[in-house]
Amino acid sequence: MKQKTIPLRKCTGCQEMKDKRTLVRIVKSENGEFSIDFTGKKPGRGAYICPDLECLEKARKSKGLERSFKTSVPKEVYDKLREELTDGADSK
Ligand SMILES: [Zn+2]
Repeated sequence: MKQKTIPLRKCTGCQEMKDKRTLVRIVKSENGEFSIDFTGKKPGRGAYICPDLECLEKARKSKGLERSFKTSVPKEVYDKLREELTDGADSK
């Protein structure tokens, strides 16, 4: 039996290694624009975070995204993430 390797990525909030398919990807494109990538296929540099408001707050406080991207991350990116995560919880 072949064992499948699960690609792991580190959450910028809780710093835990998780299956990347369960994480939300934040992408910074070549022109420096940030977007939230649910497909995991957008080009650009990515950082990962659990789809969890607690992790989002942790990332915001610890500047996890800033450290991943090595640049400042606009507040709007966090707001957008929060919006997406809240919407997701509502539709369940
Ligand atoms: Zn997390």
